[in-house]
Amino acid sequence: MKFSSPRGTRDILPEECDVWRHITNTIITIFQLYNYQEIKTPIFESSELFQRAVGDETDIVEKEMYVFEDKGKRSLALRPEGTASVVRAYLQNQSTFQKNKLVKLFYSGPMFRYERPQTGRYRQFYQIGVETIGSQLPMIDAEVMAMGVQIFKKLGIDDITIAVHSVGCDVCRPVIRERLKDFVASILPNLCTDCQNRYEKNPLRILDCKNSDCQTYFAGMPDMVNALCHECNDHFITVLNLLEDNKIKHEVDSHLVRGLDYYTKTVFEIRSSLLGAQNAICGGGRYDNLISVMGGRKTPAFGFAIGMDRLHMVFNQLKLSVPDKAGIDVFLIGLGTVGQDKALKIANVLRQEHIHSEVFLKSNSVKNGIRDAVQLGAKYAIIIGENELENNHFTVKKLEDKTQFEIKDIQELIDRINK
Ligand code: AMP
Repeated sequence: MKFSSPRGTRDILPEECDVWRHITNTIITIFQLYNYQEIKTPIFESSELFQRAVGDETDIVEKEMYVFEDKGKRSLALRPEGTASVVRAYLQNQSTFQKNKLVKLFYSGPMFRYERPQTGRYRQFYQIGVETIGSQLPMIDAEVMAMGVQIFKKLGIDDITIAVHSVGCDVCRPVIRERLKDFVASILPNLCTDCQNRYEKNPLRILDCKNSDCQTYFAGMPDMVNALCHECNDHFITVLNLLEDNKIKHEVDSHLVRGLDYYTKTVFEIRSSLLGAQNAICGGGRYDNLISVMGGRKTPAFGFAIGMDRLHMVFNQLKLSVPDKAGIDVFLIGLGTVGQDKALKIANVLRQEHIHSEVFLKSNSVKNGIRDAVQLGAKYAIIIGENELENNHFTVKKLEDKTQFEIKDIQELIDRINK
């Protein structure tokens, strides 16, 4: 029986990992420029954490969460996103995250959602994101979004758009909800069962419906921004002005609500035209209530998550390249047990000197050894046979121009390579 990876998951193969690592390192360098520190949280948490944080009536919690019971009968879930865990960790480690200080954290890793797999949508996917905890100022919103843009620019991805919107707060959300319900009432019979169920419980979620038939009925929907309270409106206007001042191109998307219930005020998405239906490569926003909902003091916060899988797709489509990775310097072909033993010893000496070395351990054939060395792109090949062992000197083949030279000891080769 042959096994294959579970539906909606895939292997990220070595060449992809090279690109992946380059992207990750570039992103982390920029996070660090802005003074973010890394945090690692468990891949599974109590399922109640996500019900409480992400929201019981979201697609993520209702339909997509991988929930299981462990042997101790605890209900656990594979994390569907990163923010809930970071906030849980923030609250659990208060002595580390001193009160009243701006806490800036970044995380990365796999997330799990039982979604219908398609291009750019997986059941195990990877996110890298930030959380900024402790400031209600709109400057934070603008700064974090600007950092997102800087990341894509740094990676060579210019063709992006930022869609921004505001989903209001506890004061204006009820008004927004009622206005939305008034509009939806007339189109409700045409919408899918999920939308119909959400009409009473959580009408804002209707806007997040992925059903394309439903989407067509949303045209002409009143802009929720008009129902924002004074505070949310001022906040939103200031964020837009700051984006303008900092020359961050953006557009207001009146349908943007995001798939998680914890957002308040600003929400945003960074999109790439190179992706099809799943065009968001980054999503986030402000979540001023989440920390208190999870049992902490009311603390404002803002964050985003970049979808690594989609970012990788864009990177490949643009045919962007990663800096050359260090190739093999020396390929050692040992003949017979004694020759192979010597080859391993020499390789170890070379590696101590940070010289990339590989030993041919497949057969006793010099021809095959040289073929492998060429295939690997090695710079030098050394054959260690009986003669070499007896006379204690080696012939080094320079594979690029097929010249060769003799060395008496390995230090000579080290000096030559280091030059
Ligand atoms: P979210 O956590 O839903 O706000 O998503 C943030 C980002 O993660 C999105 O903009 C996507 O790039 C990525 N993402 C979310 N869900 C998936 C998925 N199922 N497969 C691949 N990427 C995803």
